[in-house]
Amino acid sequence: MNIREQLAIPRQQPRELNPEERLDNFDEVSKGFDEATALIEAQRCLQCRKPLCVMGCPIGNDIPRFIELLRQGKFEQAYWTIRETSSMPSICSRVCPHEFQCEGACIRGKKDQPVAIGLLERFLADWMIINGKNLSPRCAPRNGIKVAVIGSGPAGITVAHALAHKGYSCTVFESLPVFGGMLSVGIPNYRLPRNIIGAELYALQQCGVNVKTGITVGSDLTLSELRDQGYASVFLGIGAYESRKLGIPGEDDTQGVMSGIDYLGQVLTGREVALGDRVVVVGGGNVAIDVARVALRSGWKEVTILYRRTREEMPASAVEVHHVEQEGVRLEFLVAPVKALASEGRITGVECIRMQPGEPDGSGRRKPVPMEGTNFVLEADALIAAVGQKVIPVHDETVPVAITSRGTYVVDPVTLQTSVEWIFAGGDTVLGPQTVAKAVCQGLDAAESMHRYMQGQI
Ligand SMILES: Cc1cc2nc3c(=O)[nH]c(=O)nc-3n(C[C@H](O)[C@H](O)[C@H](O)COP(=O)(O)OP(=O)(O)OC[C@H]3O[C@@H](n4cnc5c(N)ncnc54)[C@H](O)[C@@H]3O)c2cc1C
Repeated sequence: MNIREQLAIPRQQPRELNPEERLDNFDEVSKGFDEATALIEAQRCLQCRKPLCVMGCPIGNDIPRFIELLRQGKFEQAYWTIRETSSMPSICSRVCPHEFQCEGACIRGKKDQPVAIGLLERFLADWMIINGKNLSPRCAPRNGIKVAVIGSGPAGITVAHALAHKGYSCTVFESLPVFGGMLSVGIPNYRLPRNIIGAELYALQQCGVNVKTGITVGSDLTLSELRDQGYASVFLGIGAYESRKLGIPGEDDTQGVMSGIDYLGQVLTGREVALGDRVVVVGGGNVAIDVARVALRSGWKEVTILYRRTREEMPASAVEVHHVEQEGVRLEFLVAPVKALASEGRITGVECIRMQPGEPDGSGRRKPVPMEGTNFVLEADALIAAVGQKVIPVHDETVPVAITSRGTYVVDPVTLQTSVEWIFAGGDTVLGPQTVAKAVCQGLDAAESMHRYMQGQI
């Protein structure tokens, strides 16, 4: 195929559930590419000599190489190419904000639509699962050295995976009853089916990783006890779980006001959350969008998202914003809540105010400023805040690990070693709430440093 023919191929679209097929279930909305479509899409890749997509990928996946192998029909080899750098292609391919990462850098995107890199990666990972292939490389013989990983989110999974493949005996300690961190209690099934997380857990266990759920390090088991039990090194991958507050009157003492993280955690682990018909969600990121979409699927009739900035400034992925609107959620831009209104202690509405973009703030974005006299009321049976999270460090006086003023762990920026030489940390607990790929990237770096530490090289 010559370049002209290649350039003439339009970006292929994945099969998707229609909006009316979605709202009474949690089935995956995007069905991905079938083989024929994946092969057509792979032809769109220009195999750039300086592949900007690789630089855009937080973990540096060799994108041109896996796409070239895919288009030759060498699906298994293509998958293993991704696996050289990624501990979880089946997950990253589904949830990464590709438009800000690899696809955002794709040269075709300058004049046309970028290559659908995420969907091609997903096709390969799904092909491996459907064909019953092992998702993880062969394990190295055990070297007798024990490692403890605290937290079973993407950062912890990556460390356990990488060190198990170097021969270490890894045990993952997870405080929740479920494995997967925010993959299981944050990202809903319609974006990340649970059998996919299950396949990654199985792959981890196949290489000898021991996963212990329901154990909170700090209270059930201290860091010094882990040391006494012979763990040579510990990785802290405990995420950023505490929701930030809206900071408005009525937030703390009104029934029906809750955080997005709590709401999602409860619904996604099968607990009933009966709040009413009309819900107002505050925030502009993936958490706000997920709360709104989960609320719709849980029977809420009217779901409104308030975002204090403009549509263009929303940090949520474009595809999520598209889906939430398709599903009937109302989006109110340049609006902020000012008060939770209540009757007999129960929420009845949210007083809001309209905002306008002001001077640029520290982030370079224009700071939203309230417009006096524009207050209005939205009736509501629930108010859910999804305006960010912060870290709750392990509460453990036996081994004090230094914390920054933001509550994140102090680490060496290269090795991710904390103030305690045998403890390393990474993922959201170091970066603050970020993305799966960034947590994976830190997991890879931490695993390499822990290996060097245990071999006496640092
Ligand atoms: C609703 C929602 C949607 C998101 N959507 C996306 C998305 O589409 N794409 C994307 O890239 N990112 C998304 N993210 C962000 C992404 O999930 C996180 O950045 C990522 O999971 C961070 O990984 P982690 O391993 O650092 O922490 P986590 O995934 O948070 O895992 C930390 C684990 O540590 C456990 N833990 C905490 N304290 C202890 C303790 N003391 N002892 C034992 N265990 C402990 C926790 O229970 C948890 O399981 C989303 C987040 C949320 C909340």
